[in-house]
Order: sequence, then C-alpha cells, then structure tokens
Amino acid sequence: MIYLQQKSGQQLHLVYEIENGFTQPICGFKVSGYRMTINVPMGHACKRCTKRINSSKFNPNEFIKKFL
Ligand SMILES: [Zn+2]
Repeated sequence: MIYLQQKSGQQLHLVYEIENGFTQPICGFKVSGYRMTINVPMGHACKRCTKRINSSKFNPNEFIKKFL
C-alpha cells in the first residue's frame, strides 16, 4: 500500500500500486491524477481510507481486481 496525494488538495489517500499505475483511493473517492507518491504515517492519511483498510470486511485482493 502506498499513499498518494491528489493533484489538487491536501488529502492523502491510500491506493495500491498495480501494473499500469495505481488504483483509485480505497475510500471510493474519484481522482483524475496524483501529484506525488509519498510514504507517511497512517495518521496523516484520509480518514475514510484508513477506516476502510482497518475494516475486517475490506479485502485488498478484491479491491485491486477491479482495476486490473
Ligand atoms: Zn481516501
């Protein structure tokens, strides 16, 4: 998992790296592009992203599959 910042905005969303780039943020937020790739402590990431990734219902493989 990596953290990406939206092109315009301060929010750090959590995404996964895939073959052709990255998935959309796991919180469901739609972004058109990312400014940079940064690794920062979880505490700085989007609250909805962190909530989702900490949920026992979240399945990373299922999520990634949607973008392949
Ligand atoms: Zn998010």
